Amino acid sequence: MAVVIIRQDEKINAWKQALQENAPDISFFSFLEPHDREKTEVAFVWKHPEGVLKNYPNLKYIASFGAGVDFLLEDKSIPDDIPITRVVDPILASDMSEFVLATILDNLKHLRHYKVDQLNCQWKPQDYNRISDVQVGIMGMGALGTDLAKFLTLIGFRTIGWATTKKPQLGINMYYGDKERNSFLNQSNILVCLLPLTPSTKEILNRDVFKHLPEGAYIINVARGGHLNDQDLIDSIDEGQLSGASLDVFHDEPLLPEHPFWKHPKINITPHIASVSDVASVLPQLIENYRRFKKDLPLNNLVFRQKGY
Ligand code: NDP
Repeated sequence: MAVVIIRQDEKINAWKQALQENAPDISFFSFLEPHDREKTEVAFVWKHPEGVLKNYPNLKYIASFGAGVDFLLEDKSIPDDIPITRVVDPILASDMSEFVLATILDNLKHLRHYKVDQLNCQWKPQDYNRISDVQVGIMGMGALGTDLAKFLTLIGFRTIGWATTKKPQLGINMYYGDKERNSFLNQSNILVCLLPLTPSTKEILNRDVFKHLPEGAYIINVARGGHLNDQDLIDSIDEGQLSGASLDVFHDEPLLPEHPFWKHPKINITPHIASVSDVASVLPQLIENYRRFKKDLPLNNLVFRQKGY
């Protein structure tokens, strides 16, 4: 009985080594090395080559190495009844919160803008905003959105959230579903997307959403590239409805060389690094879930396949 590790980046061997060291009684294989596919019960996966999982006829569950599972749910060759787990990790959440805070402060104080001025030997002071000048709207109040709301509130930001199910315990003003979406948007000077990518959130960051934001609103997309309609963003910035955007995720990654985002003066891009699964922090939960599976205990952090997250 074995676990196969499937990922296409250079981290595959480091993950295998760390897993093997921490759980010497479990057999881990990289999908690139010879192994018995019939005897493989579990797959630990990140952005696998589509269709590769159908080579494992006896899989009992699939674990995503990250918080997102959209890449697994999009692969129609994976049977509907295989349980999928995902990562819910406090370090993943705090890394995301720190990244979004840095992005917001950079925007309020124009820091990246001054770097460009510096490279052009330009001395051009601009008006800046204070934390008290803006309200941050978080779309998606799950593991990451909730942590971000708490973090920003602690620092003094006015923060509101949007989700589907009631969350009175969060202590911030919450808005729910399509019915309350526009009331939420109307008050969000900075809109942060932390939604899962599902059929109902695909390209949700579009002209219709942008037009309900206060004029000059700023967009931060740290969820998935598929949430954004790229052309609507460019048009809404160029027309002045939005003041700009920071994007960490893209439809195609790496971002294609010819993409207009690269050269747009009001769009900042980062290479999908807002929050990266930390091996030391995530590894214990992957191993623990495997042990739970062996003992017939319910798996932690199961994805609701019908909801898509
Ligand atoms: P969760 O599944 O924990 O939370 C999702 C939230 O979105 C929930 O609050 C859910 O509402 C809400 N939601 C889902 N669909 C809708 C909808 N149609 N309308 C309104 N609200 C909706 O996700 P995480 O917090 O773990 O992850 C958030 C995103 O961050 C994911 O897209 C993930 O892939 C991405 N990510 C990006 C990283 C990066 O480095 N850029 C790193 C890690 C994650 P409810 O609570 O009511 O169900």
